[in-house]
Amino acid sequence: MNAPNELPDLSALWMPFTANRAFKTKPRLLAGASGMYYTALDGTRILDGTSGLWCVNAGHCRTEIAEAVARQAASLDYAPGFQLGHPDAFHAAAAIAALMPEGLDRIFFTNSGSESVDTALKIALAYHRARGEGQRTRFIGRERGYHGAGFGGISVGGIVANRKAFSGALLPAIDHLPHTHLPRDNAFSRGQPAIGAHLADELERLVTLHDPSTIAAVIVEPMAGSTGVLVPPAGYLERLRAITSRHGILLVFDEVITAFGRLGAATAASALGVTPDLITLAKGISNGVVPAGAVAARRQVHDTIVEAAHDGIEFFHGYTYSGHPLASAAILATLGLYRRDGLFERARSLATLFEDAAHALRNAPHVIDVRNLGLVAGIELAPRDGAPGARAAEAFQRCFDRGLLIRVTGDVIALAPPLIVEPDQVAWMFETLRQVLGEIDAAAARR
Ligand code: PLP
Repeated sequence: MNAPNELPDLSALWMPFTANRAFKTKPRLLAGASGMYYTALDGTRILDGTSGLWCVNAGHCRTEIAEAVARQAASLDYAPGFQLGHPDAFHAAAAIAALMPEGLDRIFFTNSGSESVDTALKIALAYHRARGEGQRTRFIGRERGYHGAGFGGISVGGIVANRKAFSGALLPAIDHLPHTHLPRDNAFSRGQPAIGAHLADELERLVTLHDPSTIAAVIVEPMAGSTGVLVPPAGYLERLRAITSRHGILLVFDEVITAFGRLGAATAASALGVTPDLITLAKGISNGVVPAGAVAARRQVHDTIVEAAHDGIEFFHGYTYSGHPLASAAILATLGLYRRDGLFERARSLATLFEDAAHALRNAPHVIDVRNLGLVAGIELAPRDGAPGARAAEAFQRCFDRGLLIRVTGDVIALAPPLIVEPDQVAWMFETLRQVLGEIDAAAARR
């Protein structure tokens, strides 16, 4: 065994969504975390500007969660979730249901966002079948959507790199709405951009093309995170809701990133005032401490499926670790912390300061757009000639070297810190980013 701060042998681990060869020539290893900070293997402190991977909403290594998980591991380590249960899974489901928009109070547990998406798609099919409309099998996602890495998620998702190697094996009967990125109209919008609600009308065209009777569900991220922060235009989600309702199509909000305070409320649905039929959850549900996810379903969707079955299992779906005792304990402790510390309200109260700090980068070198919502900012850089993504990748490394963790997708930098972030840390994050942008291609930036 290596000493804890010695570099391990890196060869056996095939890293996910990582440039493995580049990483292994210049590894970045994290050894510890507390509050707003990571500690790198060499002891450097790194301010977490991205809540890990958009999941550590309450900050790192919170004692309340760590102790709850440790207690659970020592008292009930595992309990099968099929035909058996344990109290905390039921408590956790009730605690989640209490945070969902009215009516979405039936909770199915998964272990990740990808599983939540697969589960939601299967619920949609089962629901229509239970209603005697089993021919509704088509799903509609959106270009640039990210719905995880399962076959369901990459099929309804719209990120080309995630799909192309698997294109022959994607789900059949999928269509995609256009993405909502309109830089010429909406660059440097604060909050929801003014233009773009009309893009939802494309759904009417797809519905007419395929006939509504064939369409099971529309799935979108209310605010798209992983593709590089695309904020929904004002009125867009409302139109999707109106069209889906009109045609008996389920609307799924993939809230794996947006739920649990990111937009200043328990869900984007509640922050933005549009209620879908299913909500996929993960990440902030357990503060990232234990892998966990869930789908919140409208009660009527649940009841339709359950009541259609004469007896026995009503929905043939589930995971060995659905409602795992450690996940349940982490969820209960996490939701308790969010409530006790008023973290959703805190995110809401910091949003304007965060927005101002983000938009102060408007005139920084290379910046061609800044967009924001709640405690999320996307800063888009002009791509380097012939090397898209290279400039943001350099910004990532330079920020890391200065002790700031940012996230990049293509040439978009995303910042989404834990909801415990302090105003001076917000200022430092954006000031550090400004300095880094000033260093990149400095001669080109001066021209
Ligand atoms: N859906 C959305 C909107 C996401 O942002 C993500 C992950 O970033 C996922 C699904 C997949 O979640 P996981 O990586 O936990 O499977």
